Amino acid sequence: MKRYGIGILRQAVTALLIIGLVHTGTALAAESLTEISANVYAYVDTRNMSAQNSFGANAGIIIGRDGILVVDTLISSSEAQRFLWDIRTISDKPIRYVVNTHHHLDHAFGNADFARQGAVVISQLKDAANLKTHGQAALGNAKEYGLTEQDMEGTEIVLPALAFGDRLDIDLGDRTVQLIYTGVSHTEGSILVYLPESKILFAGDILFTGYHPYMGEGNIEEWVKVLDRIAAMDVDKIIPGHGPVSTKKDVRDMKEYLIAFDKKARELTATSQDAGQVAAEMGKILPPKAEGEGLIRMSIEHKYLPQPAVPAK
Ligand SMILES: [Zn+2]
Ligand SMILES: [Zn+2]
Repeated sequence: MKRYGIGILRQAVTALLIIGLVHTGTALAAESLTEISANVYAYVDTRNMSAQNSFGANAGIIIGRDGILVVDTLISSSEAQRFLWDIRTISDKPIRYVVNTHHHLDHAFGNADFARQGAVVISQLKDAANLKTHGQAALGNAKEYGLTEQDMEGTEIVLPALAFGDRLDIDLGDRTVQLIYTGVSHTEGSILVYLPESKILFAGDILFTGYHPYMGEGNIEEWVKVLDRIAAMDVDKIIPGHGPVSTKKDVRDMKEYLIAFDKKARELTATSQDAGQVAAEMGKILPPKAEGEGLIRMSIEHKYLPQPAVPAK
């Protein structure tokens, strides 16, 4: 798997911003947390893909007898505060745990606000390392992501206090939350958050629904295996990293998408290094999605074309 520097990540996010600005938004935001199942809530759908809206990233909470587990923390302190406010309209139990499904900023940059409440931040080992390596630089370059100083006011990188390898089970008193690492996919350390009794799965960016996925750091062969594993799980509802509450049909569609994308992208980039031209050709064979058209080009640039040298700093 190729590794990408922060320069590439920055380009990706800048492009995301542009997409957000250009796209006027057909999806509607959840104005507050939506109850997915008893004591499980999520932000689902998106207002838009703007940086200020965490690029439309989802997040959620699981409430147990002994406290609350938060899944992902959005892009900034102000986004985390919005999330906290909504949590407090539902429950005043202590927030004990924060799980980052992966290291990307739209899922992990609100960590500090929850850590300040006493929550233990948790992720898979590889993405804990990725956040450590890239997080501070990304925050320092917030402007290049389309985020103003005001947007990022009070935002601090908080690294996971607890990182695991393959599996971690968290007992919330009357329910167990399973954190499952199934191998490299969207990132090196993307994980699943599974509630076996409720048959609910938070998939992070392993699943995009209604969005073209970002594949720049992805390993397609392994990612497809992870999607197969999800398809074999006892699951009714899946909260993707971006997009509405999903089902196994969306998981199958995502698998087909990745395979088709990878095959065509290899074919096209064998003869052309023109990202715009390749992306336009890709658009003809890919299924239409409501959001994230520009991610096609970014995935092509970051995964299938030679990487420009990142200038030394
Ligand atoms: Zn995301
Ligand atoms: Zn991501």
